[in-house]
Amino acid sequence: MRVLITGGAGFIGSHLAEAYLEKGYRVYIIDDLSTGCMDNIRYLQEDVHFKNRLFVYIDTILNEKLLQKLTQKCDYVFHLAAAVGVRYILENPLESIKINIQGTEKVLEFSEKFRKKVLITSSSEVYGKHLHAPLVETDNIIYGPSTKSRWSYATSKLIDEFTALAYFRTKGLKVVITRLFNTVGPRQTGAYGMVLPRFVTQALNNDPLTVYGDGKQTRTFTYVKDIVHALMALIENDNAVGEVFNIGGIEEIAILDLAKKIIKITDSQSAIQLIPYDEAFEKDFEDMMRRVPSIQKIKNLIDFKPKTNLDSILKHVINHIKKENHLLFQKAI
Ligand code: UDP
Repeated sequence: MRVLITGGAGFIGSHLAEAYLEKGYRVYIIDDLSTGCMDNIRYLQEDVHFKNRLFVYIDTILNEKLLQKLTQKCDYVFHLAAAVGVRYILENPLESIKINIQGTEKVLEFSEKFRKKVLITSSSEVYGKHLHAPLVETDNIIYGPSTKSRWSYATSKLIDEFTALAYFRTKGLKVVITRLFNTVGPRQTGAYGMVLPRFVTQALNNDPLTVYGDGKQTRTFTYVKDIVHALMALIENDNAVGEVFNIGGIEEIAILDLAKKIIKITDSQSAIQLIPYDEAFEKDFEDMMRRVPSIQKIKNLIDFKPKTNLDSILKHVINHIKKENHLLFQKAI
């Protein structure tokens, strides 16, 4: 069996690639390295058991010729290539919209052309400014105005969902749509704003932990391997076709409490620094103040349950970042 993973050199994509290589599949990756990096997959390329079954193309999904060729070759398509991270989206608004909308359209077009099953990764961002919990797939959505760039990401992901469902309804494309909530784990970088690797790195360096706003905003965090497990189960399940699923964690935590927890676990000397949103991002920046998924729908279908709790997640991430820092230190001397 062969799978194509767009964005396979990214954080989640590289874990998905590893899981399919372990299963004995041939894995094709297309990634433009905009937010992914070769370090995420180098260990897979160097592994004697994997390297003959891993094929990496450094290119954009907007390269139609290549995307067609790879789609035709594979049995399943996982579409993860997208602009990610609030900071990245604010800094690259046009590029983000283009890659999210045009890229997904192409992936769907070629999946339909070659009759391949495809899984689209959307985002919890599509829910917008809700304050209630849990968020259910059929909830209405509330966005801010188009003058605030943040909402372009949510809107572009929503357009992706509409397009995927339109392909399903009008052309019979076998497509599964997943809304990923905050996903964390080894190899996630803090460079594009993601809170967990940023806080852990700050704590390990005894630097202040930069909590935006008053830190009362909440999130749930899901371990990347639990997410990967769910993605693989969903693409195998015919009842998932034409449906939208939340995938996320259930332990809600305020960002300020997360900062305190990380300082405690790492035994850090760090202080906590509250930074107003205007300073951290841009004037009148709007955060999502609460984001907790209902996972009833995916639970009913594939018995999904996040296995890794926040404490274990933090241990994995802390160990990984310590190891990385150690390697960097060794390289420097
Ligand atoms: N955040 C923070 N400090 C940071 C990075 C992020 O307080 O250094 C906050 C951010 O404002 C948001 C939450 O942590 O409320 C999660 O941010 P992230 O970018 O990881 O994911 P989001 O849920 O915003 O997509």
